[in-house]
Amino acid sequence: MNLNERKMSAPAEPPDTDPAFIAKEEDFTKLPSELSHVDWTKPISWGKYEPYPPSHDADAITTTDDDGDKQTVALAPPLPLTPEGTAPSFKPPHKALEFHVHATSGRARYTTVHLPHGPVATPVFMPVGTKGTLKGLSPMDVTNSDALNNQIILANTYHLALQPGTELIRDAGGLHNFMNWDRNILTDSGGFQMVSLLKLAEITEEGVTFENPFLSDNNDKERETNSSNKKRTRQEATESGSMMLLRPEDSIYHQNNIGSDIIMALDDVVSSVADDKTRFQIATYRTLRWLDRCFAAHRRPHDQNLFPIVQGGLDVSRGGLRDVCLAGFRERDDKAPGYAIGGLAGGESKDDFWKVVDHCCRALPDTKPRYLMGVGYPLDLVVCTGLGVDMYDCVYPTRTARFGVALIDGEAPGTLRLKSHACSEDYRVIMHGCKCMACAGGYTRSRLHAMLKNDNPLAVSLVTHHNLAYMMALNKRMRDAIKNDAYGDFARSFVRDQYRGKDSGGQDVPKWVKDALAAAEISLD
Ligand SMILES: [Zn+2]
Repeated sequence: MNLNERKMSAPAEPPDTDPAFIAKEEDFTKLPSELSHVDWTKPISWGKYEPYPPSHDADAITTTDDDGDKQTVALAPPLPLTPEGTAPSFKPPHKALEFHVHATSGRARYTTVHLPHGPVATPVFMPVGTKGTLKGLSPMDVTNSDALNNQIILANTYHLALQPGTELIRDAGGLHNFMNWDRNILTDSGGFQMVSLLKLAEITEEGVTFENPFLSDNNDKERETNSSNKKRTRQEATESGSMMLLRPEDSIYHQNNIGSDIIMALDDVVSSVADDKTRFQIATYRTLRWLDRCFAAHRRPHDQNLFPIVQGGLDVSRGGLRDVCLAGFRERDDKAPGYAIGGLAGGESKDDFWKVVDHCCRALPDTKPRYLMGVGYPLDLVVCTGLGVDMYDCVYPTRTARFGVALIDGEAPGTLRLKSHACSEDYRVIMHGCKCMACAGGYTRSRLHAMLKNDNPLAVSLVTHHNLAYMMALNKRMRDAIKNDAYGDFARSFVRDQYRGKDSGGQDVPKWVKDALAAAEISLD
């Protein structure tokens, strides 16, 4: 697609909200009417194949057990596999995404997600470039390097909308042109960041209302000069014009302007550790209504993929809130080229975390990619890939690099604190055999320690490069293990490396890791 076509396909104005989509407050806690026929006694799942759990839509066979009772067992057909390297045809209904599963090992899968800016092999970790750049690295560092060679990065809509503004990006031919990156980009909806980063953010049926931080900064400075220390109220913010509204239509408008290959639906985000059942119920039902508004507002389905995000708190009970959200997505499945699992990595227990991931993977169709949002600890990737997740993103590897922390194999938590005194006279590289600029360039731990102590920005770039190279290498190790149908062995040896057991002077494997891997039919014994 050339630059002019891209410019023309981006919208000039955000579309109006169809009033039919706006629910009245008394309906906020009523089950969405399209789900009135759902049988909540059965697991919610669709599009399932072996080796994944059989589903309601699989062919059924009848067997007779030892007591002579007849039992009906659902039988799923084998998952259709596509050879590696098969070119995509981008057929309707999803002309901007084609999903090829090449191999499975247990529930883990090695796939290619074909997108408008090239193929993405999964499992994949997507680094986060907040404002269209990876801090400390140039697009050249990311592509012109054997160690990285990322096929997809993530950019934050919220930051881009505030600065430089998505209209400017649209007029520059989209974010790919703007940042000179010809591979894939995924953008988030912006909602999560407003709710998590901003004071005075509030969610109503219309959208997320928030205070523009740039305007509020100016006003704060003004107030300081007026020697008033009073905290600003919502009314003052509204009167000064710094309150802004982000509706589902606005989120899609900004993402259409940005032109990213995968765009995310605006959802009603509640902190995963919140303790208000009614609030979670309202948020889950609203997420479905907002999804319809996102689909209606989406102007570029031919070259941008809109992913719904499964919400529903930590409720994985039969007919619970995650099931309601999943059943709602099943109703709308023809519109979705892929799915995300959201509302996690917000401080919930690891036990709750893996159960939600497991529940969603068992439900979501096997013929579409599954993206777990905000998850980037290496151990979490190893576990969740075993449960069937394909895509991940997190600021962790790049953020922790800025604190001088490098990711390494070995004992939990699998990190090396380069600023610690122990590194000051350690003349090894961060990780032997690593191809990153730091390790391949011969920068010793001792030298990096000294550079970090002197706030040398090159040191931060080097550790960032190392951490992303570590994640890319981990992706490749997972893919290779799945190709060889040896994912269980890989996961076992990864976990054993991190946990030697208390008797051997290390730590024991946490219960959640054992339980989650057991759910993936991977035994640690
Ligand atoms: Zn390295």
